[in-house]
Amino acid sequence: MSISSRIKISTEKLYQVLEPIVVPSDDPRASFTNWGRTFSCKPLAIFEPVDEQQCELVLELARREGKVVRAAGVGHSPSDLACTNGFMLRTTKLNRVLEVNVEKSYVIVQGGITLNKLHEALGKYNLAMSNLGSISEQTLAGVVTTATHGSGIEYKVLSSYVLSLTLLLADGSRVTCSRTENPELFLATLSGLGSTGVILTIKMEVEPAYRLKEQQESVPFEYFASNMERMVNSAEHVRFWWYPTMDTVRCSYSSRTAEPRNPAGNWWWHSFIGYHVVQFLLFLGRYFQFVNPWIANLACWLVSEKSVGVDDSHRIFNVDCRYPQHTTEWAVPLKNSQACLREFRDWLNQEFADPHGVRPHFPVEIRFSASDDIWLSPSNGQQTCWIGIVQYKPYGFNVPYRRLFTGFENIVSKYQGRPHWAKAHKLRPDDLRKMYPRFDDFVRVLESVDPQGILRNEYVQRHIMGRPIDGRVFKPRKA
Ligand SMILES: Cc1cc2nc3c(=O)[nH]c(=O)nc-3n(C[C@H](O)[C@H](O)[C@H](O)COP(=O)(O)OP(=O)(O)OC[C@H]3O[C@@H](n4cnc5c(N)ncnc54)[C@H](O)[C@@H]3O)c2cc1C
Repeated sequence: MSISSRIKISTEKLYQVLEPIVVPSDDPRASFTNWGRTFSCKPLAIFEPVDEQQCELVLELARREGKVVRAAGVGHSPSDLACTNGFMLRTTKLNRVLEVNVEKSYVIVQGGITLNKLHEALGKYNLAMSNLGSISEQTLAGVVTTATHGSGIEYKVLSSYVLSLTLLLADGSRVTCSRTENPELFLATLSGLGSTGVILTIKMEVEPAYRLKEQQESVPFEYFASNMERMVNSAEHVRFWWYPTMDTVRCSYSSRTAEPRNPAGNWWWHSFIGYHVVQFLLFLGRYFQFVNPWIANLACWLVSEKSVGVDDSHRIFNVDCRYPQHTTEWAVPLKNSQACLREFRDWLNQEFADPHGVRPHFPVEIRFSASDDIWLSPSNGQQTCWIGIVQYKPYGFNVPYRRLFTGFENIVSKYQGRPHWAKAHKLRPDDLRKMYPRFDDFVRVLESVDPQGILRNEYVQRHIMGRPIDGRVFKPRKA
């Protein structure tokens, strides 16, 4: 018997029971805008459940009313992945630590916990996550369903550290999955785009807390491109920030260390003044595009000193991502990455030589991950070089980005790049099927666990199911 047939209350009563967890329609939080301020939506209702039973009731209401439910974390996905015109189930109050096992190095938490809160909780037990991306504001479920990655050629995307999950399926039933229990559902959910089920709990492997020693230096692009393979393998976590207008690459090498904390600081870049001066210049760059290369050169210069710092792992992994932004990032097979970066550089140089060419913001971020077996992970089956670009929105104002992004996407596509799922892209099932050997298996699992498509929002309908839904449906305004 499904849960659905066990919930024996009238729809009127269901509305009453759910009312306390509905964000009032006159509250600013009743609409949703992502962190980058690039997509927004006004769901029919936003629910903020505090327990799992309330999640079941939201799904029950959706089934009765024929509505879509989209789980959302803190809205850090740069695309419309978390947007919906149906019901939104915001998970941020489902954020408890349920178990910490120091001996076996795992933790069980609710899906809505943010990484920041998780670091704090793990720190009390002298434990830490093995790898991290640029920030820790996201929810763990958000990180898992998008195959969020950090950097390190021996380190897989963060979903790979998940040992098991408890899901609330579209029919209201709960299921546990892992590599041994419902393995197909597990491998689909680890990069499942929120569409396989609501992630209630996550059991994740962690490791004893550690400090990282990070060394940074700047090198010419040509040196980087010629020595990339050696550089990528020269520390546990290696990443690069490329400033094309200066033809310079900032290199960061981090490895575990027993040395005491000794944080490195770059006052100008990290200071209040550095933040605001750069933002103001970017604002000027909206009107006078020729200013943009100067700002990029200034930023490159501000961080050009060699530096060495030792700090707790998450403080080294995380960086300042600054302003709202348009961004796109693609996973290029490592073996193609040097050629791809060189071609992108040639294209940018042509643009710089053209008085009407693109004048991009900075930096181009270059990171790495190990191959994995998660069905829709962009690192599936290949060592990966992630290449990401950004166009900031100073004070939230829009800036041109489409020509730059199209030029970039054309090049990374030529080198078999796969887009980051959380970032906007134009690919449809026919393209994705060619990139992901298990794409059809993923669709099959979706159809078996959610035949009515209750958990499929516009993004999933568009990119995975191939429905004709405009990619700009949740754009605040045409830009
Ligand atoms: C400044 C910034 C830095 C970033 N850095 C990195 C980085 O270094 N590496 C990287 O790979 N990515 C990075 N990202 C992307 C980010 O990690 C992902 O977009 C992540 O999904 C955001 O988590 P969230 O809690 O905001 O989820 P949301 O954006 O709110 O939702 C994302 C997806 O998760 C699903 N979801 C959320 N909760 C649940 C749940 N309980 N059950 C089922 N599905 C759920 C949603 O349905 C949606 O599909 C960055 C983003 C920003 C804005």
